[in-house]
Amino acid sequence: MTSYLEWMLGVLKNSIDLIGLPAEVYDFLSKPDRILTVKIPVRMDNGKLMVFEGYRVQHNNALGPYKGGIRFHPEVTLDTDIALATGMTLKNSLAGIPYGGGKGAVRVDPQKLSMRELEQLSRGYVRAISPIIGPEKDIPAPDVNTNPQIMAWMVDELSRLRGYNVPGAFTAKPPVLWGNPVRLYSTGLGVVVAAKEAAEKWLGGFEGKTIAIQGFGNVGQWAAYWASKWGAKVIAISDITGAVYDPNGIDVELAMKVTNETKKVINYPKGEKFDDPALPLFTDADILIPAAIENVITLENVDKVKAKLIIEGANGPTTPDAEKKLYSRKDFVATVPDILANAGGVVMSYLEWVEDLQYYFWDEEETREKLAKIMRRNFHRTADRWEKLKSEHPDKAVTMRDAAFVLAVERIYEAMKLRGWV
Ligand code: NAD
Repeated sequence: MTSYLEWMLGVLKNSIDLIGLPAEVYDFLSKPDRILTVKIPVRMDNGKLMVFEGYRVQHNNALGPYKGGIRFHPEVTLDTDIALATGMTLKNSLAGIPYGGGKGAVRVDPQKLSMRELEQLSRGYVRAISPIIGPEKDIPAPDVNTNPQIMAWMVDELSRLRGYNVPGAFTAKPPVLWGNPVRLYSTGLGVVVAAKEAAEKWLGGFEGKTIAIQGFGNVGQWAAYWASKWGAKVIAISDITGAVYDPNGIDVELAMKVTNETKKVINYPKGEKFDDPALPLFTDADILIPAAIENVITLENVDKVKAKLIIEGANGPTTPDAEKKLYSRKDFVATVPDILANAGGVVMSYLEWVEDLQYYFWDEEETREKLAKIMRRNFHRTADRWEKLKSEHPDKAVTMRDAAFVLAVERIYEAMKLRGWV
């Protein structure tokens, strides 16, 4: 099986080749600038000392400080971390924000730690990577199994080390500690901005369009919320416990309340209930938003997908083979790729960092509008580049994902060339 790193490098190579950039660009971008491996000793509640391993990978900073999350996971490897850091360079470049890419990880199962142990681990990790991070150097944020509380401990630890507050050193912090309330729903909001722009461009409008969403966690819930607020009809939702279908439209706020209180979407009191968490993937809806996990639309089930438009809320929900098959369907319009559609979180991180550098904070509505404006701009830049690539390569089946990666690589290349690196 192809590893995540091999896949990422393949995507990178493909984009560089598609636009005929020199091969040395691949040589440069296929390796990170810096890899730091650290040990983090933690005195556990039972008195024993445990030594955890962590990494911070800084991939490329041609466009600005390294930026990317920190993952706490028992199976994380250095290779995965390098792949994730490379992906962040591309994602940040495509987002049009002044950041390079980085990613951190600690090999640990945080579910097995007490709150005190988790705090010690978070602070220990910051002490270990402190020489190479900071608002102008490298700005971490949460990823899998890390959250605003962990960011609060981390920003506090770095502030103690430096001897003054460094709000801009981490993002997605709690609002009272230099964070922004929009962060809670920024990814879901961004997904819906992409869906709305795509529907207006290709389906004749967004209002009244039917939407099916797989996954009803942070991304899925807030995507459903903004989709229904902006006039679309959410007809199917699911989580790991099952699915709800209602062709008349689901009451999203009620579904959020019930799911968050009972941890099961199927406790929603109306509509039809199903055991199959994959149901929304195959619902007859105009727009499908996979917002759960990776590899859910595969060669085996892609023929059952009926939506004309897919907006990838989750990372990697569509396999490459399945994507090819989708585009061979006559009524299929596009898969708006994850790297574009789910970038709302990192764009919000950028806005939070700008606030922190100035100690000047926008109100919620103002922040939301700034975020939506950046997402709209990125959608149209990618859609336009896609049109251009298709006309330049009529012999190739160029996807919107290809266009997104090409745009990302072009921007990094331009910066590196101007700086005299390549
Ligand atoms: P989450 O843990 O809050 O929610 C995940 C949801 O998916 C839950 O409702 C869970 O029950 C459901 N789920 C899990 N497996 C499922 C399955 N097999 N079928 C149906 N539902 C299933 O996670 P999240 O933060 O909402 O992230 C969802 C996806 O979006 C992930 O791929 C994540 O990497 C990606 N993403 C998240 C963010 C963010 O800011 N949260 C940003 C970018 C990308």
